[in-house]
Amino acid sequence: QCLIKDFETRPSVTHLLEHPFIKQAHGKDTSLRQQLSVLIREQQDVGNRIKTRYILPTTQTAGQHNTVSSQHERINTRKTLIIESCPDDDLVNLEVLDEETIIAHLQRRYQELQIYTYVGDILIALNPFQTLNIYSPQFSKLYHGMKRSTNPPHIFATADAAYQSMVTLSKDQCIIISGESGAGKTESAHLIVQHLTFLGKANNRTLREKILQVNPLVEAFGNACTAINDNSSRFGKYLEMKFTPTGAVMGAKISEYLLEKSRVIKQATGEKNFHIFYYIYAGLYHQDNLKKYSVTDRDQRFMLLDIISSKLYKEQFDAIQDCFRIIGFTEEEVNSVYRILSAILNTGNIEFTSTSSQHQSDKSEVPDSEALDNAAALLSIGSEELQEALTSHCVVTRGETIIRTNTVDKATDVRDAMSKALYGRLFSWIVNRINALMCSDGQIIGMNVGILDIFGFENFKKNSFEQLCINIANEQIQFYFNQHIFALEQIEYQSEGVDASLVEYEDNRPILDMFLQKPMGLLSLLDEESRFPQATDQTLVDKFQDNLRNKYFWTPKRVELCFGIQHYAGKVLYNVGGFLEKNRDTLPADIVVVHDASVCVCVCLFQYSLMDLLSKMVVGTPHFVRCIKPNDDRQALRFNKERVMVQLRYTGILETVSIRRQGYSHRILIEEFVNRYYYLAFRAHQMPEGSRENAIIILQKAKLDNWVLGKTKVFLKYYHVEQLNLMLREVI
Ligand code: ADP
Ligand code: MG
Repeated sequence: QCLIKDFETRPSVTHLLEHPFIKQAHGKDTSLRQQLSVLIREQQDVGNRIKTRYILPTTQTAGQHNTVSSQHERINTRKTLIIESCPDDDLVNLEVLDEETIIAHLQRRYQELQIYTYVGDILIALNPFQTLNIYSPQFSKLYHGMKRSTNPPHIFATADAAYQSMVTLSKDQCIIISGESGAGKTESAHLIVQHLTFLGKANNRTLREKILQVNPLVEAFGNACTAINDNSSRFGKYLEMKFTPTGAVMGAKISEYLLEKSRVIKQATGEKNFHIFYYIYAGLYHQDNLKKYSVTDRDQRFMLLDIISSKLYKEQFDAIQDCFRIIGFTEEEVNSVYRILSAILNTGNIEFTSTSSQHQSDKSEVPDSEALDNAAALLSIGSEELQEALTSHCVVTRGETIIRTNTVDKATDVRDAMSKALYGRLFSWIVNRINALMCSDGQIIGMNVGILDIFGFENFKKNSFEQLCINIANEQIQFYFNQHIFALEQIEYQSEGVDASLVEYEDNRPILDMFLQKPMGLLSLLDEESRFPQATDQTLVDKFQDNLRNKYFWTPKRVELCFGIQHYAGKVLYNVGGFLEKNRDTLPADIVVVHDASVCVCVCLFQYSLMDLLSKMVVGTPHFVRCIKPNDDRQALRFNKERVMVQLRYTGILETVSIRRQGYSHRILIEEFVNRYYYLAFRAHQMPEGSRENAIIILQKAKLDNWVLGKTKVFLKYYHVEQLNLMLREVI
């Protein structure tokens, strides 16, 4: 009885588990508590309201039995509890749809540890910043093949919907996860993979194990500790899980975008290099293998490892070795990977001094050759060749090849370009190797669920080429999002015979066109300018200014070498410094020659264009997950309204709401409409029939404008419902 009283409104599963009774009854036996949550739901439709039946163990004796075995016995005695489902599981059900209301609901839910909320078919995920017990296989079972309204919103439900729709419709699906750094995209992607792996029960366990190793392996190389997130993804990732026509998982394929290679050279204060460098240092140190791979004391100083982190990194190193092994890398391949990583460390240690002679005033040399020799040896190239490639370059003039020396600055640039390129190629090689190893059954025709985990919209104090690429990608995703939301509305209007041209929404297509159009779009102009050897930052800005004449582009008068873009998510000022160089992203020819001579495993550089991404996604039916960071302090249960508000705007949630506002956010079956509002036009005892005619009488009597009557539904604007309800209150 006490339970029924405590849960007058519906609790979340997490809440139930945290209830003192459950805790008392089951102590800290989490597995039992998780099982419990699976037992507790059954559903019943009662009129329009859904009632949820929770079956809980008996109250009376639980407190006296707190050993694990007795708990298992007791679980057979159950008590029934009926609770109504939460109308704000899906925000679209709310009659008032403004910013304040949405925020208030999200906040209340967050405080109750309900981190997931639907907006129609979109899932909002608030980062809980604490471990929740809602991701066990029991939960996967709970969400397996269920109607969405059966259970509280959950990331598994989204994964499940994608899977079910793939299997029943035989159509590729894609799940698009967006949100800013630290909002929980990568965690969400993992959870989706986890549930999909559960659903697509691979016949062989090995394949399942392999798939689960892909993310940790790639993330060791592509993630780093930043000021915002200790495990921040520094690349965009599109993971395709491949299934047979019957829905058994048969492989996975990963595509990577825009790896932040500059991190290998330089990290902002308080940030770190890619995880793998620390793992490998701690791991090799532990194995007493530092010498074998020529990792030196200098690297130790650079890593700044203390005992605790060393121990953690060593464990990670072991885990990564397991990943390599399980996925199927050979020992030789793994060795090569370590050699290249160490070569990169050593390359970073090569220093130059300037030597002037009578003839050449700008020559550089390597005074201490240890790092140079190590790097060369690790890459299986000659030490002299490497030095030459770093300190000189060839110029071809009128058919003649002349060798020119590099200044210290130039040599340093070449060295850094080499480190970045090596790391970039290594990363691509690992990704390609994983793909080759994961798709042994690739010949079988099957279907995909793609999962996109890519950086959110970025707007820093200083924005460069990387931010531009990321923001263009987000612009594309937003466009896709709009299309989808809009298209869904369109379908319903059509099937109801409603004039679809009535619906308007904020279209970001003109901005996208400004970027992508050929030959006059911003990216084409940038490509063109990158091909001119004489081009400078100034000529680039001038070119943009001369050719991009629209309201989304401007050049600020006071700030030099900058341009501004009005993105869908806000204004961003970009600094063109380094744009040309980064867009070229080429290595000095001499370095390429040296590397081609290298016998290392990583040979080819696959480049996936971000621009392909959209075309890939369009093929599938989309599902959207919008991750939100409730606070910047990574604190559980802390909900910063302002921050959430800003993100709701960025991620387009409010835009979705506004699309629904501009369209007909409420579609009510004609019969239900008459039933609900007949008081406005009829006497209470009249009980009018739920017909079109009667609906029209009510709508006219209420003096509403702009409503539309479809074949089976009344289409109303959000404010109509408010007006109707107000009138109803006055009448009754
Ligand atoms: P993003 O990829 O958006 O930058 P992450 O997925 O790396 O963010 O999440 C950042 C951190 O937030 C994680 O390392 C984890 O500590 C926490 N986190 C995110 N989602 C969850 C979740 N569902 N449950 C528990 N912790 C989470
Ligand atoms: Mg991430």
